[in-house]
Amino acid sequence: MSKKESENRDEIKDFIREKIQKDLRSGVIKRVVTRFPPEPNGFLHIGHAKSMGLNFGVAKEFNGECHLRFDDTNPTKEDQEFIEAICEDVRWLGYRWNGKVYYASDNFEKLYEYAVFLINLGKAYVDDLSAQEIHKYRGSLIEAGTESPFRKRSKEENLDLFKRMRAGEFEEGARVLRAKINMASGNINLRDPILYRILKANHPRTGGDWCIYPTYDFAHGQTDAIEGVTHSLCTLEFEDHRPLYDWLVDLLPLPCKPKQYEFSRLNLSYTVLSKRFLTQLIINQTVAGWDDPRMPTILGLRRRGVPPEAIRDFVSRLAITKTDGTVETVLLDHCIRNYLNEHAVRRMAVLNPVRVVIENYPESGSEEIEAENLPGNKSAGKRLIPFSRELYIEQEDFMEEPSKNFFRLAPGREVRLRYAYFITCKEVKRNEKGEITEIICSYDPLTKGGQSPDGRKVKGTLHWVSSQHSIPATVRLFEPLFVDEKIENKDRFENSLNPNSLTVLDNCYLEPALKEAKSEVPVQFERLGYFCVDAKDSKEQLAFNRTVSLRDTFKRKNIHQT
Ligand code: ATP
Ligand code: MG
Repeated sequence: MSKKESENRDEIKDFIREKIQKDLRSGVIKRVVTRFPPEPNGFLHIGHAKSMGLNFGVAKEFNGECHLRFDDTNPTKEDQEFIEAICEDVRWLGYRWNGKVYYASDNFEKLYEYAVFLINLGKAYVDDLSAQEIHKYRGSLIEAGTESPFRKRSKEENLDLFKRMRAGEFEEGARVLRAKINMASGNINLRDPILYRILKANHPRTGGDWCIYPTYDFAHGQTDAIEGVTHSLCTLEFEDHRPLYDWLVDLLPLPCKPKQYEFSRLNLSYTVLSKRFLTQLIINQTVAGWDDPRMPTILGLRRRGVPPEAIRDFVSRLAITKTDGTVETVLLDHCIRNYLNEHAVRRMAVLNPVRVVIENYPESGSEEIEAENLPGNKSAGKRLIPFSRELYIEQEDFMEEPSKNFFRLAPGREVRLRYAYFITCKEVKRNEKGEITEIICSYDPLTKGGQSPDGRKVKGTLHWVSSQHSIPATVRLFEPLFVDEKIENKDRFENSLNPNSLTVLDNCYLEPALKEAKSEVPVQFERLGYFCVDAKDSKEQLAFNRTVSLRDTFKRKNIHQT
């Protein structure tokens, strides 16, 4: 954690940190242990980063530890591929766990013993009702549930049936193990929740050892206890599960008594975060995959060029509260710019080129112009940029009939080419279609370095590249995936999709130093934003992704539209 990040941290005191501090001071716990518990059924997104920031963050701040634990209790949806990808994402983000990776599945035998313990206490029973019947018997928010006819089974019969469930004697769905709590409880989670179900599926880690698997509700708290977790931090949707968590922790002979605390999950404007909806975007081919640079996944952000430091900074600024809200994507962009402004070297690139010919520059001449890599930061060094008679500038930096507030190049007008010379527009050449093909200019050799010897001022400074020295490239610009700030009806979110989320420009020119650009190390294209090489798509021609623009143009544009 950088100094700046920890300073931010000090300002934000939330109820969870206060509680941990209190528990440490009063001696309720000696050392704080948290866990980050992903289910290995998909890739991590920035919402998970909030949870990591909190769990790994408090462990570090209070000198405790945070476990990386896979909640791998549903083998039908889980995969080893996800386990490895999640470990890599956590590592890349810079969160560290202590060597060992924990798995809920490491405790399957112990969890089975706990289930047997509950049966012996008369607090769990095997139910033969079908899934639909169980659902029907559960009642509703305004109606009490109905007890299953199998609820009164004897302890002996329950033990025998549960053992046979484990032995694989019954088909999937034939029987479940349920807690015996209260079918009339106001909290539906306490109406005899399911603890074990039969799943004849191969597990990524335990293979074919088991054909019954614990539910999340049964596995989570007990795994917390086995690992010595003191504060089990989860998102608000688990608030209603807490009474069940406590019920189990109280009854079972656990090595410690962890407590669950809930905090608001991260929602980000103009995007969706849940794995279910992100999967839908892939199935619909709205995006190219989990690592599409528009995706709010860690893989997508990484490929777009977002540095892990910016993500950590972002999540450290998020409020840890008890009410869900939506955080503006511009805050994330702000954190990215903040980091890159200090770290990304400056380069020149022209994305929508138009040719400029300097008529009084020697025909086959060229020279190298020195420019700082990071203005104001000498230690970042310098590079040489070739200059010659034929250049490219941006089409939008020229206007034949300039409007009132346009200070860039126009007929008869003088502007500065960044680091190089002052040039004046003399003439415009067009093809038969009337499109501008060349802008003929003259330059003033006395303005080398972009300085005028006589104090003459120009209003515009343009970026440029030398046409014969430049490298052709493809550049991809991104906008948010959705046009709606909040996607109200998530099941029909196709209606909110932004048709302009991707723009591909494949006639761009870069200054030669960009040949050395590395993926995951964004550079600033002067006046255009921060960009990063896309290693996957740089085959015949270099491809760059825009990590973030220099200013927030999307929001302004959308406000104009409404
Ligand atoms: P999703 O809703 O995207 O499917 P999930 O909650 O099913 O996510 P898990 O793998 O179970 O994903 O999540 C691991 C941890 O990350 C959990 O503790 C969960 O509460 C937390 N988490 C998931 N999404 C968010 C979010 N948007 N904001 C904060 N924490 C989150
Ligand atoms: Mg989950």
